[in-house]
Amino acid sequence: MYTVGMAASDRNNPTRSRSSASDYSLMEFMREYPDDAACLDRLWRERYAPDGHHAQCPRCERERKFHRTKTRASYTCDSCGLHVHPMKGTIFEKSTTSLQFWFYAMYLMASTRCGISAKQLERELGVGYKTAHRMMKKIRTELMTDEGDEPLSGDVAVDETSWGGKPRGPKLTAKEAAAFRERKATVLGMVERGGRVRARVIASRRGVPLSRAVKANVNPSTILYTDDWKPYKSLKREYIDHRIINHSAGLYVDGDIYTNTIEGFFGNLKTGMRGAYKEVSPAYLQSYLNEYAWRYNARYQRGSMFEQLLVRAAERN
Ligand SMILES: [Zn+2]
Repeated sequence: MYTVGMAASDRNNPTRSRSSASDYSLMEFMREYPDDAACLDRLWRERYAPDGHHAQCPRCERERKFHRTKTRASYTCDSCGLHVHPMKGTIFEKSTTSLQFWFYAMYLMASTRCGISAKQLERELGVGYKTAHRMMKKIRTELMTDEGDEPLSGDVAVDETSWGGKPRGPKLTAKEAAAFRERKATVLGMVERGGRVRARVIASRRGVPLSRAVKANVNPSTILYTDDWKPYKSLKREYIDHRIINHSAGLYVDGDIYTNTIEGFFGNLKTGMRGAYKEVSPAYLQSYLNEYAWRYNARYQRGSMFEQLLVRAAERN
């Protein structure tokens, strides 16, 4: 029988309610990864031995049976004794932090809608702040990236927003206020209709930096949708069509022409960053944008968001 929710008769085996917004609950995570050995076994299966026992042995140069090495984080070839280390070449290699802690950090970063802070991870894991910060940075910069992904295509909406909050302290003079605005970073957001999003920090919202970033990330065989900000106009000749939504005339939805999705992404980004990260220096902003874009994109992919991140961690080397 299929039980929905947590049946009182089976408290030791809770199941996730089908109506839950979570794609993979903490209970499921804890059951699957109760300790380091379970995490290592998952990496081993993902990278070398789908059945957990048989893998190609580089020394024997054929498929062999392997067993878990007793005192090391490796698996040993039954025939020749070669050790294979599943963490080798991944972000977990050479880390003194427990593999289960890494998995849990990935679980939290993948499944928390607006991201979590290093401070919160520090509390959750009981590790030092530096360790928590370093782990998150690795996960963010090495796993949550769109590096190597295909450029966006189809119908793509592009919009930009400035980043850097409001000036604090005593009221600024006009000159100081202008300097503050000038220092603010510009974030360019690009989103496929019903598809992926990509965000980039650009040097300026004017001319060349803006059009260069669009061209680097959006396939030429695309219909581009933007507002009526002038620098977008030069892109018309680069794309099969360029449709403009006239914001200055107070128009937000004009049939096919839309930039609302990208504004929704910016909204989630700003709310989340304000809550979880407070101050982000411009040098790190791009990696945070990647983290938000990664979560946004992973929502519609197969498998839980944690699962997708895990597969990525196993692939990267
Ligand atoms: Zn062997």
